Amino acid sequence: MAKQKTLQDAFYETLKDVYYAEKQSVKALKKSAKAAEHDALRQAFETHAEESAQQVERLTQVFEIIGKPARAKTCEAMQGIVSEMEEDLDDFAGSPAADAVLAACAQAVEHYEIARYGTLKTWAAQLGYADAAKLLDETLQEEKTTDALLSRIAGTINAAADAGEGEAEPAKGKGKKGA
Ligand code: FE
Ligand code: FE
Ligand code: FE
Repeated sequence: MAKQKTLQDAFYETLKDVYYAEKQSVKALKKSAKAAEHDALRQAFETHAEESAQQVERLTQVFEIIGKPARAKTCEAMQGIVSEMEEDLDDFAGSPAADAVLAACAQAVEHYEIARYGTLKTWAAQLGYADAAKLLDETLQEEKTTDALLSRIAGTINAAADAGEGEAEPAKGKGKKGA
């Protein structure tokens, strides 16, 4: 019979998943920063890319705390979110809604991270890794702050996208719905 898996095992497995996901998010953010037209959006991506590199570093500290090697395990959820982002980038490139879909994809990444770091923080505390819980909470707060910032920026971007005021060629039939 297989060895009974404990919360300790679940913590390590999820840590590997998030380690992979966080590294992917750094790449996705850099790509998004290159693609973004809106200044505040691009700035938000650049800032969070730097922050995310530190989050990867923080994860290696957590691996150290639990005395396990820092390994990444493919996170299919993050892979899926990133492929959707790439598809949207292709489909909406140069259109008035390009930045709106970029912001939306980035928020999907943040929400996945918020879910994962929330769990990891709770499990770390349960397992008695107070220092790890603190590190994970620092990252969790950064993800939440980024998500909130993206929501604010999206407010402006979405209105422009709806009105067809992109940087690229104006959309045909622009204007408010029903106008
Ligand atoms: Fe992150
Ligand atoms: Fe995952
Ligand atoms: Fe993030």
